Amino acid sequence: MKMNGSMASSAVVSTLVMFGWLASSLSSTGWAQPDPDWLPHDRNRPQPTVIEPATPSTQEQVGKAPSDATVLFDGKDLSPWASMDGTPTQWIVKDGYMECVKGSGYIRTLQNFGDCQLHVEWAAPVPPVGNSQGRGNSGVFLGLDRYEVQVLDSYNNKTYADGSAGSVYCQYPPLVNASRKPGEWQVYDIIYTAPRFQADGKVASPARLTVFHNGVLVQNNVELTGPTGWLGRFPYQMHPEKQPISLQDHGNPVRYRNLWVRELGKPGKKEFTLADALLDRYPGAYERGNEVTKENGQLVLKFNGVRFVLFAESPTHFFAKSTDVQCEFKSNSEGKVESVTVGVGEDGGQVLKKK
Ligand code: MG
Repeated sequence: MKMNGSMASSAVVSTLVMFGWLASSLSSTGWAQPDPDWLPHDRNRPQPTVIEPATPSTQEQVGKAPSDATVLFDGKDLSPWASMDGTPTQWIVKDGYMECVKGSGYIRTLQNFGDCQLHVEWAAPVPPVGNSQGRGNSGVFLGLDRYEVQVLDSYNNKTYADGSAGSVYCQYPPLVNASRKPGEWQVYDIIYTAPRFQADGKVASPARLTVFHNGVLVQNNVELTGPTGWLGRFPYQMHPEKQPISLQDHGNPVRYRNLWVRELGKPGKKEFTLADALLDRYPGAYERGNEVTKENGQLVLKFNGVRFVLFAESPTHFFAKSTDVQCEFKSNSEGKVESVTVGVGEDGGQVLKKK
């Protein structure tokens, strides 16, 4: 039989499909693998860690964080928080909640977080005062003060869509307005993916946010164009993956309770952003031509001519991520820094006196 053009091409396609099917069924590596280390139903694949799940809050009763969460506010203790410069905050704690005090400034966590699941409960002031952006305005920021999920009393309060409750401010309005009345407790469950940057500062992958407002999806894995801000959309500026979480002082006495966060991704060391006053004690010249400087709020160690960006694990202990370099600073009884011990690949190391 003589084949016409279309019969010939469909025969070629059938042969290719058959060949592809045979190839994939003959070779186990032909299967799509979400993680190439594990076979489908691999008996050796680690079991998920068993945790105690969260207990949801009601209006009257505060719920409980899941057992593997870092509790950021338990109704009493403000010690995980500070003003943006690391000094104690003036926000007040009362009856199991904390409340923004007008003019006291944003507050931030001492600990830094990258990719995470963040649970926030908040209530707008009652009776409502002001309108539009002036009513019950605060905000939950990821990446220090860069990426805001808007907190606003959006109950019968008209404002621009990309500034209402649950918006990614100035970028994405919420999919719906799921607001409760002012004075009622509202819940944000936020999934944050930190942006990643190349060494030259170019964006490798942008920040992403998913937000549930009172259990309703209002942001579905949206890709941020850059930091959020009033009046414009600004470009990304390179920053470390893990940063504090902050809450906005927009001049309204918004309340917060039951705040917790779960870090996602590979487990790593805890990181903190120390108070400026503490960090500023470490820079200077150290013995044998070594040096510590401060750049963009982070310590940088120049050790044997190699530059290491340092991350704080405690007020005195720092580590690099590029090489296993660890630094322990020692101070005298007056708080004056006397030396740094630099360990490379093992404990101990060289003691370098500060000049
Ligand atoms: Mg705000």
